[in-house]
Amino acid sequence: MIVDMYDVVIIGSGISGAAIANALARYQLRVAVFEKASDICGGASRSNSATVHSGHDATYGSLKAHYNVLGNAMYDKLCADLSVPFSRNGMILFATSEADKNEIARLKQNADQNGVPGVQVLDRASLLAIEGSFGEEVIGGLYAPSSGQVCPYSLVIALCEHAAENGVSFFLNTAVLQLEKQGEGYLIHTARGSVQTRFVFNCAGVYADEINNMISGNRFHITPRKGEHLILDKKLAPYVKATISQTPFDLPSGGHTKGMGIMPSVDGTIILGCNSCDVVDKEDTATSEEGISQIIRFFEENWRHLPIHSAVPSFPRHLIISAFAGLRPHPDTDDFIIGEAADAPGFYNMAGIESPGLTAAPAIAQELANAFAQQHHIPVNEAYCPTRTHKKAFRNMTAEEREQALASNPNYGHIVCRCEQVTRADVLQAIHSPIGARTVNAVKMRTRAGMGRCQGGFCCPEVVELLSKELDIPMSEVTMNGAGSEVIPYEIGSFETV
Ligand SMILES: Cc1cc2nc3c(=O)[nH]c(=O)nc-3n(C[C@H](O)[C@H](O)[C@H](O)COP(=O)(O)OP(=O)(O)OC[C@H]3O[C@@H](n4cnc5c(N)ncnc54)[C@H](O)[C@@H]3O)c2cc1C
Repeated sequence: MIVDMYDVVIIGSGISGAAIANALARYQLRVAVFEKASDICGGASRSNSATVHSGHDATYGSLKAHYNVLGNAMYDKLCADLSVPFSRNGMILFATSEADKNEIARLKQNADQNGVPGVQVLDRASLLAIEGSFGEEVIGGLYAPSSGQVCPYSLVIALCEHAAENGVSFFLNTAVLQLEKQGEGYLIHTARGSVQTRFVFNCAGVYADEINNMISGNRFHITPRKGEHLILDKKLAPYVKATISQTPFDLPSGGHTKGMGIMPSVDGTIILGCNSCDVVDKEDTATSEEGISQIIRFFEENWRHLPIHSAVPSFPRHLIISAFAGLRPHPDTDDFIIGEAADAPGFYNMAGIESPGLTAAPAIAQELANAFAQQHHIPVNEAYCPTRTHKKAFRNMTAEEREQALASNPNYGHIVCRCEQVTRADVLQAIHSPIGARTVNAVKMRTRAGMGRCQGGFCCPEVVELLSKELDIPMSEVTMNGAGSEVIPYEIGSFETV
């Protein structure tokens, strides 16, 4: 039962909720984040292409364009302060036809209008000078050097942990069910009780329309727009440097698509995707045979265009290690919905944050929090600490750092996940962090244990054992991702014989 009164309640802990929580922690406010999932980052922010977009393709004059470019520029410092890996590896759109070249000319003009730094139209020779061996049919391209790659859930977790270190309270398994105006503020009914708050920030992803429509007459609708990806083995990492994508094009069925891309993740794997398909069910994050086949077909047919083909001549199906899908929160306004609802004072939206939302959210949050604090005369939090307390993961340490870590803590000498080089010390840090991991998936998101080639086959039993021991619960109560997903549903010996 939640009984406290807060100044601010944030609904949702994706990149929007995490970024606004972090930005509001700079002010003297009692802030709580309510998250319906069993861990933070339960929505689109954990399942996307992980690209920090340059802003070359966001429609000029839109909120998406404005915040995309601002957000992109924040990433170096943001990730350094939070100890999150970030790579500004650039993006290349390759052209194989005159139609592609025309689209590239249009995108260059759009990029210039949006104020994106350094975007160049390349002929074949200058393209090859940047990234080796594109296939013979590639006639040119667009280069956006400010584009980057980040691990989206590591960033969200870091933002949330940092906010928690600066006094923000987080409540997991706490779905907001109903919202009502009460006096100067709001009464929020959740799955774990009710709470009063002066202000609400709606960061509920695909559910942000339902939250807004509970309280505001300015209704909008969000469609979940599914995108699927494949993950390829780390063996391919040496052959993919920049993020490479086909040139956007008009679909025969109407509409425009960014098309497929190949992304080198900051963790060494290669991500392929993604497609786009509107769905009805807001929980439908399943991958489909049709979607996966579509991605494989595209890369089988177009592999010869990509620089990687000179080292790996055909699409390596056998190096696919996993697939995932995420739901973009696509609003019927076709742009981000940001700010105080005109007919609901104190209720703020960060809604309809579809792509490039991962890139844009830190900038949206910073502007929104500053304007909010000014509007309500909120004093700054003098005790705010700008950097996060976090020990580097063993897999990211240099040989010297590993030796030092091992000398001070023998748990660094015990590998739990062989594929991703995760040690017992890393898992213990994840469990005892400011928003501690309580499930196998939460350990996975914080450490990468279970994300490698064997997909948890080796490390899962030990992760279960460590969660059980550290949380002082029986192994049968350890879950993959919350109630109903128990890893070991029965204690050995409890089966009845017939
Ligand atoms: C396939 C795909 C590819 C993408 N690629 C990129 C990319 O490369 N670059 C980029 O910049 N952007 C990309 N995006 C967009 C980006 O992922 C989103 O813009 C961003 O993650 C949205 O963040 P959010 O916090 O608004 O929503 P979410 O991350 O969905 O978070 C919403 C949170 O609210 C919680 N919640 C919902 N309802 C309630 C409730 N009633 N009570 C409590 N909690 C609730 C959810 O559990 C969830 O944790 C992509 C998205 C997808 C799906």
